[in-house]
Amino acid sequence: MSTAMFSTPNYQNYTDIKTSASGYLVLLEQQDDELIHQLSGLIPVDSPIQVIVQNQTDDAALADFLNAVTQALQAKKAGIHSVVIGSESFIWMTHQCLQTFGCLKEEMTLILNIKAGQKRNVYCVHCGHQQQTEEQEFCTCEHCQVHLYIRTHFSQRLGAYMGVCANAHDPMGVAS
Ligand SMILES: [Zn+2]
Repeated sequence: MSTAMFSTPNYQNYTDIKTSASGYLVLLEQQDDELIHQLSGLIPVDSPIQVIVQNQTDDAALADFLNAVTQALQAKKAGIHSVVIGSESFIWMTHQCLQTFGCLKEEMTLILNIKAGQKRNVYCVHCGHQQQTEEQEFCTCEHCQVHLYIRTHFSQRLGAYMGVCANAHDPMGVAS
């Protein structure tokens, strides 16, 4: 079995957060004081915690968020443990950013937050376009218009589920 592909991604729990790190980077999709309070109870009291929140979902907010993460990692990457909490889409986007800084799997805790919504990424196998969706089973590729069936097969490298043609007899999806 290839290590790059998993049929469904594995997410972790709050109790999986390592307590041995020299500092923590908490990356949230949405501001959530209750969650931050809960986290601070799980992290050793003398460890510094930096919280970065994306808040808005527009491109500018996303760019700001990734910039802030980049700066935080440039400042002190060694010994830092990242805790990523949000929707699947947010988790894997942030995961990619952390990976470019050489953060290892064991230096991150990825926690799915149901409250953040059902957003996940779907990769269209027909044209290679990747889009966000809240649909569970089917969506239409916004680039090539093919009606896609969202497989449970997840590519960790792409951070996306595979979208395949829902109707093999109607590959371009225009008839319906
Ligand atoms: Zn497509």
